[in-house]
Amino acid sequence: MLAPREIDEYLLPTERRVIRVRQHWAVMMNHVSSTALFLLALVIGERLLPDSVLIDNLAWYLALVAVLRFTILTILWWIERIVITDKRVMLAQGIITHNVGMMPLGKVTDLTFQRTLGGRMFGYGTIVVESAGQIQALNRIDYLPRPEEIYERCPSSCSARRARRAPPGCSPGRAGAADEHPGLASSVPHPRIDLHTHSTASDGTDRPAELVAVAAEAGVDVLAITDHDTTAGWAEAAAALPAGMRLLRGAEFSCVSPTGRGDRDVAVHLLGYQFDPEHPAIVAEQARLRAERVERLRRMTEKMAADGYPVDPDAVFSLLPEGASAGRPHLARALVAAGVVGSVSEAFATLLYNGSPYFVPKTDTPVRTAIDMVRSAGGFAVFAHPLARRRGRVVEPSMIAELAEAGLAGVEVDHPDHAPEDRALLRKLVAGTTLVATGSSDYHGTNKTTPIAAETTHPEALEELLDVTTGVEVLTG
Ligand code: AMP
Ligand code: ZN
Ligand code: FE
Ligand code: FE
Repeated sequence: MLAPREIDEYLLPTERRVIRVRQHWAVMMNHVSSTALFLLALVIGERLLPDSVLIDNLAWYLALVAVLRFTILTILWWIERIVITDKRVMLAQGIITHNVGMMPLGKVTDLTFQRTLGGRMFGYGTIVVESAGQIQALNRIDYLPRPEEIYERCPSSCSARRARRAPPGCSPGRAGAADEHPGLASSVPHPRIDLHTHSTASDGTDRPAELVAVAAEAGVDVLAITDHDTTAGWAEAAAALPAGMRLLRGAEFSCVSPTGRGDRDVAVHLLGYQFDPEHPAIVAEQARLRAERVERLRRMTEKMAADGYPVDPDAVFSLLPEGASAGRPHLARALVAAGVVGSVSEAFATLLYNGSPYFVPKTDTPVRTAIDMVRSAGGFAVFAHPLARRRGRVVEPSMIAELAEAGLAGVEVDHPDHAPEDRALLRKLVAGTTLVATGSSDYHGTNKTTPIAAETTHPEALEELLDVTTGVEVLTG
């Protein structure tokens, strides 16, 4: 087929299309008149010049080329599409190879609207898009049909962003005018996005299908399943996806990182998303860590049993599904079941905390290696709860900035374990780097008290993160 792919295929999971049009037919008038003039010139030339087979042939071929050119231009015009979404303006063109030019509305600093006499007569206009410093693919859109309507809708999308980014009391610029004519985009509510949750494939208490159901019940539109060191929950979660919900598939990688202070390394968590789950390095490293997790939890359990605590390794592991990652919360539940403590949190506070006499460390992956693995498997990496201080020592913000240079794409800013001042600090850090801020609940079912979607990610942040991924598709139910 010559026709291009449906341009809606280029839309991101969180993006809504506002307008899709082709350029006004007046754009073809130039081609019609130039082709007609050229053909007329050929006819006149032929009449004036002396009779010759060579000239006849030449005129014939030139006429053929002119007609072909006109046909191609007509087809190009017919299949070209200008698409305006709540995030960007796109221009899709090309017959055999399909080019998509785009201009994110977030980069738009000003929009002006120009109209010639011809435009007023036939109903088209030009929108000139000025952007912040960067040269973008679309700087002006000529021969736009129904330009007033589009102009009204387009800045209302921009203003939605500006209003969000601007501090309170700040003038929203051109948004005022647009507010009087709210476009489609401004009336569309944001999708609810939770990018960090656990199932029984690691230390959560909901099976992957239950996790998806809980998310749907809570009004989550985009969910990520991110079990520790395993992708074992992906298939069940995918199969349980209800209509309209989207699923990112990920994992939380157990890592170790320098702190940036020159003291000993610290355990950190890295969220990897949308990577190819069959990437050999990831398969091998996750299998190694899961084996190590079992061994380490067995040793912790044995240490406690030796001290007289009523826990037994077989009982701890009996709850673990195939391919699942064992973690301290499994031991914590065994302690709750045995009546030693009243809750999982109490087990952590009294017996299982980092540095407790019963704590046994595991050999985690160097964080830069994990970032490389995720990226080479087509995914993107986000630093999970980097400033969760109540879990122990944390890295310096300078270390997060260094990891951004090593390919880290995002940082979890809004997380239940982050204090307000640390969130502010991380926001400042994000503003000065290429990092994208995310927010997530780190839901663990009844192993933690945080409900799903207690913290969420802004759709634009997700979009930026998904921009470069090639590993697996975002699934839609
Ligand atoms: P592990 O992966 O075995 O080292 O266990 C650490 C995991 O236990 C973390 O990823 C958290 O999900 C969970 N965890 C840590 N601290 C607590 C706490 N105070 N209460 C409940 N769960 C916790
Ligand atoms: Zn966990
Ligand atoms: Fe974590
Ligand atoms: Fe987690």
